[in-house]
Amino acid sequence: SHPDFQAAIPIMKKIEEAGYEAYFVGGSVRDALLGLPIHDVDIASSAYPQEIKQIFKRTVDTGIQHGTVMVLHHGVGYEVTTFRTESGYQDFRRPDHVTFVRSLKEDLQRRDFTVNALAVRHDGTVIDLFDGLADLRAKVLRAVGNPHARFHEDALRMMRAVRFQSQLGFAIEAATAAAIKDNAALLEKISVERTATEFTKLLLGRDRQAGLTTFLDTGLYAHAPLLGGQKAALAQLAGLHAPQFKVPAVGWTLLVHLTGIRADKLLRTWKQANDLIRLTAAAAKLLALLPTADDWALYQAGNAALDVALTAQAALDPAFDGARVAQAYAALPIHEKSEMAIDGKALMANGFQPGPQLGQTLNRLERAVVFGALPNDQQALLAAAQQ
Ligand code: ATP
Ligand code: MG
Repeated sequence: SHPDFQAAIPIMKKIEEAGYEAYFVGGSVRDALLGLPIHDVDIASSAYPQEIKQIFKRTVDTGIQHGTVMVLHHGVGYEVTTFRTESGYQDFRRPDHVTFVRSLKEDLQRRDFTVNALAVRHDGTVIDLFDGLADLRAKVLRAVGNPHARFHEDALRMMRAVRFQSQLGFAIEAATAAAIKDNAALLEKISVERTATEFTKLLLGRDRQAGLTTFLDTGLYAHAPLLGGQKAALAQLAGLHAPQFKVPAVGWTLLVHLTGIRADKLLRTWKQANDLIRLTAAAAKLLALLPTADDWALYQAGNAALDVALTAQAALDPAFDGARVAQAYAALPIHEKSEMAIDGKALMANGFQPGPQLGQTLNRLERAVVFGALPNDQQALLAAAQQ
């Protein structure tokens, strides 16, 4: 009865009226049943993509090769995916080719965990072929079918298990956990990008401690990029009692700090975005200087990295008083080079020659202004430059 589901009901009914089946599936069903906020409403249907396109006037081929068509309804897009099986797994990775099927059971069977394999009809009927509701109530992640076989089909599911453990605060059922332990090495077959997506969600989850502990205990960590030799550092990270991380940069900064791996090396290997790499590098650099860091270090970090570093430091040391450092930052005379009352142009207009010397002079002035040794005033800075 969530409004996002309500809004999609006319679509479901229209598919049924055309003689096909349609169900809500996937994470939104799981999360709604748990009373959590939901993200995207996924609809699964026995209708083939071409049939969906005949039923609805306005559609977009968002992933038609995988069977997904977006249906536009009152300006909102709903992804309708044809029931499918994924046979012919090669190399322990998700197959590229899928087979469309008419049977809901086959579609639910290929899903990873029982709590992700529930389907709900527009009238609220829950189709629960693998006891997902019981597992939902017991807060358990259990592979659909034989966990060993399922992790062989797609080794990413092992990372998804620890990710969901962290996100949902669920336990991993014993046979499922044992199969992760047995097959952890298969993680090496998975692309860094896919592993990283799950790892980031793990870091951001509410039960990060449990997720990271399983990541360690199952040996998955040993097959994740650059983390193989980092058992002690990961155990430290897993042991932090800090509240849930709000942004990935906090987790990555702590990883850099605890492992001693350079931020750019670690995050580039994990194929993270350049913005995140820069932010993490700056935050880790400052973190290494906390709890005491001079004004120049605070200035160089900048507001965003300061925020991340303070959160990371508070995670490492609950007694740390970040407010004092934040105040010192706020009180800096300037926060950006562009706020300097003098620049290279002004220096040259006053007889300075262009060249490396000029840059050094400007840097000296910038430091002096940041430390409060010189006022941020053009005449005073010119005079100081001439000395
Ligand atoms: P989130 O809230 O993070 O989106 P989700 O459960 O919706 O979680 P998705 O990656 O969006 O996860 O996948 C949607 C659904 O597709 C899952 O609930 C699951 O049923 C199925 N699924 C996704 N990835 C896999 C996989 N690797 N193996 C088997 N089933 C999968
Ligand atoms: Mg989803």
